[in-house]
Amino acid sequence: MGFCLTFAAMVQKSHPEFYTAFTQLLNNKDQIQSDILITAHQNPDGDALGSALGLFWFFKRLGIPSSVMMPNDFPRFLDWMPGSEDILIYDNDRKRGDELVANANFIFILDYNDLSRAGKDLCNPIGSAKASKFMIDHHIAPSNCADHYFSDPKQPSTSQMVIQLLMELNMHQLLGKEGASCLFTGIITDTGSFRFPLVTADTFKLTAALFELGIDHSEIYEKVYDSYDERRFRMLGYMLAQMEVLKEAGVCVLYLTKKQQEKENLQKGDTEGFVNYGLNLKGILVAAFFREDTDNIRISFRSKGNVDMNTFARQFFNGGGHLNAAGGSSYVSLKKTLENFKKEITQYMKQYE
Ligand code: 5GP
Ligand code: MN
Repeated sequence: MGFCLTFAAMVQKSHPEFYTAFTQLLNNKDQIQSDILITAHQNPDGDALGSALGLFWFFKRLGIPSSVMMPNDFPRFLDWMPGSEDILIYDNDRKRGDELVANANFIFILDYNDLSRAGKDLCNPIGSAKASKFMIDHHIAPSNCADHYFSDPKQPSTSQMVIQLLMELNMHQLLGKEGASCLFTGIITDTGSFRFPLVTADTFKLTAALFELGIDHSEIYEKVYDSYDERRFRMLGYMLAQMEVLKEAGVCVLYLTKKQQEKENLQKGDTEGFVNYGLNLKGILVAAFFREDTDNIRISFRSKGNVDMNTFARQFFNGGGHLNAAGGSSYVSLKKTLENFKKEITQYMKQYE
C-alpha cells in the first residue's frame, strides 16, 4: 500500500520489550491452547470497545482464538460494532468470566492502567491469573500489574496504538473492514472527532490506513453520534437548562439528579458524552458533569488547553484520567458535591489566570 512508517515513537524503539513479547506470541500462535482474553475498563467507552474488538478481529483472522470480556455492559450506541454481540459481560456471567480468566495464557489489558479500573470484582481474578499480561494503554502512570507494557500517555487513544502496532508489523490488513471500523470508532470517540490536543499527523496517517481497509466513516459517525433516542435527548435538555456557569473561572457545571434520570428511565451509558456540551460554551475551559447514582455521584471532567483535570480529579474526587479528560466519584450528597466542586475548582483555576 506504499505506506512508510515515519513515526517518531515506533513501538519497536519506544517499547522494545513489549514488541518482542508480542512478536513471540504471534510466532508461537500454533501453541496457544486457550482463548487469549482481551479486557478493557469498567463502563467501557468507544475506545475500550474499539481497541478490544480491533484486536479481536486481528487475532481471529490470524487463526488465534480470543474472547473479549468487559467488566460491565456498554452503551447501546456502540452495540452495532462488529463482534460486540459476542462480548462477555463479566457482571452478567461471572462463572464463564472466571473460567476465561483462569484458563487464559495471555490477557490483554486495553485502555486501562490499573486493575482497579476493571472493577472491584474483576480486578482480583485478573491480578492473580497465571496468564502473561500485555498492557496497551494511554493513561498516565500505569501501575505494576502487567508483564509487558505498551503504555504511552502521549497517544490520543488506545485504538490508535493498536493500529500502529499492527502496521509496524505490517499485519494490519488482517483487521479487515470489521476491525478497522472498531478502531476508527475508538479513535473518533477518544479524540472528539480529531480535535483534542493529542491528535497528531500520526493519528491521520493511521486513520488513513483504516480508510484503506474499507471503513464507511459516514455510516460510523451516524451510528455513533446520531443515535440519541427521545428520552436521552430530553434528558440533555434538562441538563442544559439547569447548568451553572462560573464565568470568572471559566467553568461549566452540569448535573442530573437521580430523580430526573428515573423520570426518563435513563440507562447506564445514556449520558455518555454529555459533559462535552459544557465546552461548547464560549469562554469555558472546564466542563464538569455530575450524575447522581444510587450510592455515589459519578463525575466526568473535560478541559481545554493545559488545564489539568487528571491532577484535579485525583486530588479532590478519588479519580484520575488524562490531562483533558478525567473522571471521579463523590460519596456525599449531590448538593454538597456541587458545593465542594465549585469551591475547589474556583481555587484551582487561579493557577491558569
Ligand atoms: P469519563 O468521563 O469518560 O468517564 O472518563 C474520562 C477519562 O477519565 C477516561 O479516560 C477514564 O479512563 C478516566 N477516568 C474516569 N473515571 C475515573 C476514575 O474513577 N479513576 C481514574 N483513575 N480514572 C478515571
Ligand atoms: Mn481511551
